[in-house]
Amino acid sequence: MAHIQVLPKQLADMIAAGEVVERPASVVKELVENAVDAGSTQITVEIRHGGATYIRVTDNGRGIPKEEVPTAFLRHATSKLRSAEDLDRIGTLGFRGEALAAIAAVSYVQMLTKPAGQPMGYSYSIENSEPQEEGDAGCPDGTTVVVRDVFFSVPARYKYLKADAAESAAIHDILERQALAHPEISFRFLKDGKSVFTSAGDGDARSVAEIVLPGQSAQLLEVYADDGAVKVTGFVGRPTQCRNSRGGQFFFVNGRTIRSKILTAALERAYENQHMTGRFPIAVLYLQMPLDQVDVNAHPTKMEVRFLEEKALFGRVYRAVQDALAGATDRPTLHARPVEAGAETPAPADVPPEPRQQEEVTFRSPAAPAPRVKPALWPREEERWAPPVQPARSGPEKEETPAVQTRFPLPPAPRYAPVPTGTEPEGREAEPAAPVETGPETPPWRIVGEALKTYIIVEQGDKLLFIDKHAAHERLGFDALKAQGYRPMSQELLRPLSWRPAPEDRAILLEKAAQLEEFGFQIEEFGDDALAVRAAPDFLACGDIPGALEDLAHEYALGEADPDAQRDALLHSMACKAAMKGGQTNQAQELEVIAQAVMEGKVTHCPHGRPVAAELTRKQLEKQFGRS
Ligand code: ADP
Ligand code: MG
Repeated sequence: MAHIQVLPKQLADMIAAGEVVERPASVVKELVENAVDAGSTQITVEIRHGGATYIRVTDNGRGIPKEEVPTAFLRHATSKLRSAEDLDRIGTLGFRGEALAAIAAVSYVQMLTKPAGQPMGYSYSIENSEPQEEGDAGCPDGTTVVVRDVFFSVPARYKYLKADAAESAAIHDILERQALAHPEISFRFLKDGKSVFTSAGDGDARSVAEIVLPGQSAQLLEVYADDGAVKVTGFVGRPTQCRNSRGGQFFFVNGRTIRSKILTAALERAYENQHMTGRFPIAVLYLQMPLDQVDVNAHPTKMEVRFLEEKALFGRVYRAVQDALAGATDRPTLHARPVEAGAETPAPADVPPEPRQQEEVTFRSPAAPAPRVKPALWPREEERWAPPVQPARSGPEKEETPAVQTRFPLPPAPRYAPVPTGTEPEGREAEPAAPVETGPETPPWRIVGEALKTYIIVEQGDKLLFIDKHAAHERLGFDALKAQGYRPMSQELLRPLSWRPAPEDRAILLEKAAQLEEFGFQIEEFGDDALAVRAAPDFLACGDIPGALEDLAHEYALGEADPDAQRDALLHSMACKAAMKGGQTNQAQELEVIAQAVMEGKVTHCPHGRPVAAELTRKQLEKQFGRS
């Protein structure tokens, strides 16, 4: 066994360096952080071969006085921290005083630096932690650091350097994050002699967002919340901008780019029920909070931080994002199929709207005092419960769908008034428009009809909307259920309904009987292999009860850990079962209720995140017909 010895300084430095400098991208990160901390307004980063052979970071910050330059390259040498108390309120990106020492331990480094007001700058080079040359040099205000051949002295690391492209991508990501974190700084990134991006540095975060999320920034919704303790600003994407990875999510705390499970969760929770499962919102969120509320000294890369009050922060971010989303209704656009490939017509000139020939009835929402229409949404009492079905191994027979099937607690019927447009028939007076009670002004619209027993067609201004009646109704029901605090009215069945579910469904339903009672179901064993239902939520048609319970059993079997998510999942299935279905015939007034909710923006996505409406514009149609 060898004797215990203290490692030579150089080797110790090299080992310590491994913590800070994992790869060329970490060198870029540290150097750029130094440039930001130095109060720069312009930072240029140039790399070659993924940073492995060459990295240069130039800033116009405060520079380093020449007598301090060698010290800056010593381990634990920093100008940013003085005492243990300072650790509690770190306002700079760096604080450990390790980066320059670490970089110098594994590569050739040259620094040129000049504080403003000094006549001459200073040049200093260091290799393998050994100072090489130093002396006065002419240079502009600020600091330039050139790093060559990262890991040349650490063959074990050198071997594992990733391909240039992967390393370049990592550096690109770091610089985008820094540019987003600091819209007030102009960043330039050059790769192998070519410019990759330049940010304006004019403080406009949206313009940086456009660089990072090309084509998305105009659509982003602004976030602003400030409760005095924490300020949340930035942007979030609309539900339709969701992606299939989290690559479009950026979080910043006090100017530092971080990854955070808690913030990710808060963001995504705000989109719950608005986006499709498996898709992720995009976001650029800035948090400003007192320095002592966040511990940035939690991880070597400083990418992870600890928040003092995680729960409260979760709530703040969640609400801020929800507020931003609240005003947004967005609908996908339908694409008319081109008649001939390549037969694109030039951009249309302004086409005056056709004069309206027919007398039309336009619904305005909310509108003038109007004949209240009692909606036929609530079935008569005697229709409510069909006679119990007989136990059948294969589950309940599929019912033929009668005209009115919905038993959902829908909002009251729309208050609408015929609004004469175009030529007004004589003898009828225009109704005075009632003041808007809630929500944003909705331009006048009217239902054109229903197509394919599935889509409600609405005309509004210069566009047509196709509303998926099932999806929209499902959403309405889901929201209503949630609003009831998850406690739908339970209705006792005249005669218990019994059926034979699959044995595993039966077992799980019995096990969860108490929880099901909260949802309005009373179930019990019925013989060896059947179940009896004594009560069910009042909006479920009798024939839908077994199916709804089986869906619930499957949800339970999936075993979502989060009870809230599980409840939501259960409500989804119930709302889905109770909603009007495509292919069903519904009464005009029911369709009006649905259309009204969609047009007012109360409903934008079904509980599974599918949009409830799509648009087709006059322009698209005109293009299709070659009219423009
Ligand atoms: P830290 O950033 O944690 O303080 P570093 O090793 O990265 O440690 O840098 C050491 C010191 O060198 C910094 O505290 C700072 O005073 C100085 N420094 C490094 N880079 C720059 C720069 N680009 N401009 C001005 N000062 C710098
Ligand atoms: Mg630093």
